[in-house]
Amino acid sequence: MNCYVCGTKLDEGADQCPCCREYVAEIIGDPAETERILKEKGEKRRSKLLSQYEIGIAVYKWEEEQSRKMRVRMPPAESLYHREGWLEEPFARVPGVDEMAVETSVRKGEEEKLVTLTLRSFQEPTFLHVGAVIEDGFRLRLALKNDDGEIRRSEAVSLLEL
Ligand SMILES: [Zn+2]
Repeated sequence: MNCYVCGTKLDEGADQCPCCREYVAEIIGDPAETERILKEKGEKRRSKLLSQYEIGIAVYKWEEEQSRKMRVRMPPAESLYHREGWLEEPFARVPGVDEMAVETSVRKGEEEKLVTLTLRSFQEPTFLHVGAVIEDGFRLRLALKNDDGEIRRSEAVSLLEL
């Protein structure tokens, strides 16, 4: 069984999710109906938890012969669960650079943490799309997509352990 909120696989007999601390509900009555209700409740709770996070990456813009560091915000975290979300503007691929270390910011309330995630670049296209995805256990990965729709993901970092 997996946690209804964050998707973490739970040990048999667990009474609490080790990851997001959601309690495991005992089921009384119609199991199918109860499962539907739990799923719905889990989704709401997940959206609420994820909406507290704001994810951004540092990008460099070339301006008047100087590169200026800027931050762009990723699509809302609650929209990234199990589904990549992409920044609208494509990025120019830097020829010869195979790995990109991307400064990633995770903000929750007043607190902000910075972490570097590595994306392996593609050899071919001129432009690449950068995005992010949140996996089970609220593990965040950056994602890179080329024109063929091929996707590569960075290593993961847990939003809950940052
Ligand atoms: Zn959980």
